[in-house]
Amino acid sequence: MNSNPEKSWTVEDSAALYGIRDWGAGHFDLSDKGELTVKVRGPEGEAVVSLMDIVSGIEQRGHVMPLLLRIENLLDARIALLNESFRAAIARAGYRGEYRGVFPVKVNQQCQVIEEITRFGARYGHGLEAGSKAELVLALAALHEDGLLILNGYKDREFIDLGLWARKLGYRCFFVIESPAELPLLVERSKALGIRPLIGARVKVSAKVGGLWTETSGDRSSFGLSSTQLIGVIDALKSHDMLDCLQLLHCHLGSQIPDIQDIRAGVLEACRYYVDLIGEGAPMGYLDLGGGLAVDYVGTRANHVHSRNYSLDEYCADIIDVVMSVLDPLGISHPHIVTESGRATVAYSSILLFNILDVMHFEAAPLPDALPSGAHDLVRALFGVLEDLATTDLQESYNDALYCRDEIRELFKRGQVSLRERSLAENIFLAVAQHIASRLDGLGKIPSGLAALKESLADIYYGNFSVFQSLPDTWAIGQVFPVVPIHRHGECPSREGIISDLTCDCDGKLDSFINSHGERNTLPLHPLKAGEEYILGVFLMGAYQETLGDLHNLFGDTNVVSVRINGDGSFDVMKEISGDSIADVLSYVEYHPQTLFENFRNTAEEAVRKGKISLTERQSLLEEYSASLRGYTYFEK
Ligand SMILES: *Cc1c(COP(=O)(O)O)cnc(C)c1O
Repeated sequence: MNSNPEKSWTVEDSAALYGIRDWGAGHFDLSDKGELTVKVRGPEGEAVVSLMDIVSGIEQRGHVMPLLLRIENLLDARIALLNESFRAAIARAGYRGEYRGVFPVKVNQQCQVIEEITRFGARYGHGLEAGSKAELVLALAALHEDGLLILNGYKDREFIDLGLWARKLGYRCFFVIESPAELPLLVERSKALGIRPLIGARVKVSAKVGGLWTETSGDRSSFGLSSTQLIGVIDALKSHDMLDCLQLLHCHLGSQIPDIQDIRAGVLEACRYYVDLIGEGAPMGYLDLGGGLAVDYVGTRANHVHSRNYSLDEYCADIIDVVMSVLDPLGISHPHIVTESGRATVAYSSILLFNILDVMHFEAAPLPDALPSGAHDLVRALFGVLEDLATTDLQESYNDALYCRDEIRELFKRGQVSLRERSLAENIFLAVAQHIASRLDGLGKIPSGLAALKESLADIYYGNFSVFQSLPDTWAIGQVFPVVPIHRHGECPSREGIISDLTCDCDGKLDSFINSHGERNTLPLHPLKAGEEYILGVFLMGAYQETLGDLHNLFGDTNVVSVRINGDGSFDVMKEISGDSIADVLSYVEYHPQTLFENFRNTAEEAVRKGKISLTERQSLLEEYSASLRGYTYFEK
């Protein structure tokens, strides 16, 4: 061990500590200045930009934190990578079908994101998957004709009619039958409009997959047809002379599948269905394997819920391999492979940036050399524990200290110990706890009673954001994201902390972080510096988070800025969206900002009448109130 890590800390130490090159997938790194950088590849080679430079450019344009930053190039890079990887695997294996990717709109419906995916994706014929009427409506306006349009979800008459018209317009639009009840309406509307649909059948695969979203697969999954229902669909199509419309088999095993063996097993089962559908006389031609391609949030490349034990190349090669191994012996021609990768496409391109407002430490204030005369016996006993620490067993000392502290708290409640005595006791206890915590690393085995001690002493960093609005999955399903300061990486992050948000909710915090073993409960952070912002970034958060967020405590949408990085390392601001104002969020919960203002003005006028405030005071008060209505819902400096 280094005798003074704080002195000799380097940017390399930081890169390793925060695992940046492991989860960053080549998109993120650190500069020599210790700032987090984004790397993009263009025709002219690699361009690298510091996030601090982007932040200062955005702040100069008047946007404050918290801020959702989108890097358009990273969206493009992911789409290119997905398509190129499948193309390479197809070429290597001599596979005779094509890859036809679609982006599932539900993973990020934001206009800027969908526009960029369809604009850039056009060169690959990348399509969209819509799971609701609203998603279909936006997809029809965004999609080029080459891309597939896969329609999942429950479909009412309006949904079906819109899809049928889209078919007539030339879109390659597939109605995926998820339940037997959907088919009669589709058949009826198709006959009424005289438009023959392209049909897909979604099957339930029995292969169980691991991960956080296992419910999507297996017998009890609420999506897809059982084998008996599938036969019903085939027979119904035959009876309406529409079996030729059935051209796609759909299966979605779940999201974020960590184990490649589960993917192989699912694809294998899907192929068996495919074979039998051909046997039933359906033309087929498309095999849609849904989503599930995982993001390695922790960077460990392991079979772990927040990671994955395979690379993108392996994913593509294994799918092609399994399909060929089932179809080739039967002489069945290779279908086009469709996947609906959402998470792996958009996670990288968005970064939540927020500043730290304050830190709470759990540290002893300086203690007196000796106790005041007349100090309570229990306080004396506690002080004795502190003095004897060097020579006694740590667990025993901790037990004694805890006993004394709790007794003193009891006496305080009964009025037998004063506030000053209690404060002294709490401080001595903290000194004992800190001393013990500092010695734990030197022990071979940490006593179980002390295992949580370090966490209980961790700092609380107060971040200017809302978990519920910006990172709902961390709260709802225990998702972890890489959280990393975007600067100061040349300095040792000498503190350990958790991050609390602005909401008054005990769930409004980040207390699970990535590390090389998977997860840890505290994050190494830098001490705050007077007069200098400390900015953290939450990375890989572009999937699912943006529209799941809610208005808890009435914290609204954050400012959103999209940038495009140029080949020379400069960047252009492509789109700026101001976050919700207070008037905006109040109107979401049915208040009328104008009425609120008028009511408040009446209250102020009443106060003038009663002589509580002057007319000038009334005016400044009203100006302040109306400025608040127009202002940001987050902490403003
Ligand atoms: C949610 C969903 C996806 C996206 O899955 P990812 O794991 O994010 O790629 C794809 N297809 C369907 C049907 C879905 O419901």
